[in-house]
Amino acid sequence: MILLLAGTGEARALATALSGAGIGLTASLAGRTRMPKSLPCATRTGGFKGVEGLAAYLRASGVRAVIDATHPFAAQMSRNAVEACAQLKIPLLRFERPPWRGDWSEYDSAESAAAALPAQARALLAVGRGSAEPFAARADVWYLLRVLEPPSEPFPLPNGEFTVGPPASIEAEIALFQAHGLTHIVTKNAGGEAARAKLDAAKALGLEAVVIRRPALPKVPTASSIEAALTWAKEHE
Ligand code: NAP
Repeated sequence: MILLLAGTGEARALATALSGAGIGLTASLAGRTRMPKSLPCATRTGGFKGVEGLAAYLRASGVRAVIDATHPFAAQMSRNAVEACAQLKIPLLRFERPPWRGDWSEYDSAESAAAALPAQARALLAVGRGSAEPFAARADVWYLLRVLEPPSEPFPLPNGEFTVGPPASIEAEIALFQAHGLTHIVTKNAGGEAARAKLDAAKALGLEAVVIRRPALPKVPTASSIEAALTWAKEHE
């Protein structure tokens, strides 16, 4: 049985490919999304309680291999997977989408990205609701905070408003940025085709992009295509 650490579009695509190939797998979700789309395989939800909890789960469930297809910024989960798999000598594959490349400045943290915004900037904040808090330090900045699900809480920053929904096409992003008179966009370097539209739209409008660099992770075998991950899974199931 393979444990698929999920929570991304790629994990969904992998779950479909692995299930379709008859590979036994269980997907794991952190449980952050209120209404997650169902996955085409057995699914468990919630944290494992650190490395020890994950190791106990792997042992008890007879997991033979782990694929970490979490978001590139879900560093804690990825580190825990490296440690638990090393302890139990279970093979681990990280599914990694290539980072975006472009002529923007990258920063090591949300705090340093917030500090890099000029006074009175009007910025799209596309870092995820969970990473918005450090931007509250800049009360002089107006934020358009992108969230995936309709918010149930008040706006968490001194100035600005929510925009709800996944990243849109370049044309729709351009229209959104113009409608709000934006001067900057702030994003994590998540990679992936669909979410890149905001960077291309910013470039088209001459807006500055403030990009948060990916966290460094321990080296493990990686795959960046569904086909490569499927081949690995067949060898390790
Ligand atoms: P994180 O900081 O790396 O993980 C924090 C804790 O959440 C982990 O220690 C683990 O708890 C639990 N967890 C995370 N992913 C899990 C999974 N797939 N299954 C079970 N438990 C999981 O993670 P995060 O950045 O909060 O991300 C949480 C989820 O949202 C991940 O599945 C990730 O793929 C997805 N996501 C994250 C981002 C982002 O920008 N960070 C963006 C899009 C989607 P225990 O220690 O208790 O095991």
